[in-house]
Amino acid sequence: MPLQPFIYHPASDSADAVHALRARTAIALGGGTDLLGAMKESLVHPETLVDLRRLPGARDIALHDDGSARIGCAARLADLAADAGIATRYPALAQAAAAVGTPQLRTMGTIGGNLAQRPRCWYFRGGLPCFKNGGTDCLAEKGENHYHALFTGGTCHAVHPSDPLVALTALEATVELTGTSGVRTLTLSALFDGASQRATGETTLAAGEFISAVLLPATAAGGEQYYEKLMQRGAWDFATVSLAAHRRADGAVRIALGGVSLTPYRVTSSIEEDVATGGLDDDSIDALAERAMYDAKPLEHNGYKVWQAQALLRRAMRRLDPR
Ligand SMILES: Cc1cc2nc3c(=O)[nH]c(=O)nc-3n(C[C@H](O)[C@H](O)[C@H](O)COP(=O)(O)OP(=O)(O)OC[C@H]3O[C@@H](n4cnc5c(N)ncnc54)[C@H](O)[C@@H]3O)c2cc1C
Repeated sequence: MPLQPFIYHPASDSADAVHALRARTAIALGGGTDLLGAMKESLVHPETLVDLRRLPGARDIALHDDGSARIGCAARLADLAADAGIATRYPALAQAAAAVGTPQLRTMGTIGGNLAQRPRCWYFRGGLPCFKNGGTDCLAEKGENHYHALFTGGTCHAVHPSDPLVALTALEATVELTGTSGVRTLTLSALFDGASQRATGETTLAAGEFISAVLLPATAAGGEQYYEKLMQRGAWDFATVSLAAHRRADGAVRIALGGVSLTPYRVTSSIEEDVATGGLDDDSIDALAERAMYDAKPLEHNGYKVWQAQALLRRAMRRLDPR
């Protein structure tokens, strides 16, 4: 389909961006790698695209002395993958950014747009009348659901397609939002709260609000951390299942799974505590991996994801063992 006409509004500062985004027909623009496709597919019909890339500091990656960091919303995925400071302090994030799609996508794509990108479900993207397209049901639930969710708190069974989001969840990042009432900070789970029940978007962003930065706490730096992604082919694909793991410098463990839900999926804290204690033998590791996926509800064609997740979890438990 041809791209519909739109007004291009390069926001000069945050106030300008908020003012422009308050219009019902306006939408935020990062690299446009997802948005322009969604417009061509007629999934969204914005009249104005508010480009956030020229906001002061929007491209900046600021590493602070205490180990924390502030990443501007328009920082490019390629820059996150290549930044020596990110690679040293937060290798899981650098690896996840490097795992995104293709070099072209990483060069254009921004971290804000990556987090707010829409699901890749083929019913949704195909414009079929699924829940996210204004229908009442999820067409994947009883249809072609090979790549869909194992955990869903609502009607939609799509998964969130982002690699960086999984790493950021394990690193306990938060997002800075800028809107009509000023600046606020949200956890990632609060940003995506109720994503599978919300029809028109996945985030809890209010009208006029945008993600202005991603914030990494000091505890995210260092320790043992990595990101691992399983795909149907060797490269240039979305994850079937992925995992980010972090043994923090203080010994606490955080593990997040991607490709299994439309919200960041953190493994339950009791499992993370057992991994932090360490000394797990093979039987305990098997039992914990099974327990982590106990609440999974596979659909007809995606049961393989349970096995993939358990395999990644077993590897993570061995790798994070403090002994
Ligand atoms: C072929 C293909 C393969 C891909 N493979 C992967 C992959 O393997 N892993 C992966 O993680 N991603 C993958 N992607 C997604 C790609 O990384 C995203 O398209 C990209 O990250 C989105 O970034 P962008 O800056 O271009 O966002 P845009 O396209 O500009 O925006 C995407 C959405 O986010 C909103 N938005 C943008 N910026 C903000 C902001 N600051 N605040 C609030 N909302 C905002 C827009 O309104 C829009 O709804 C793939 C995409 C394609 C097309």
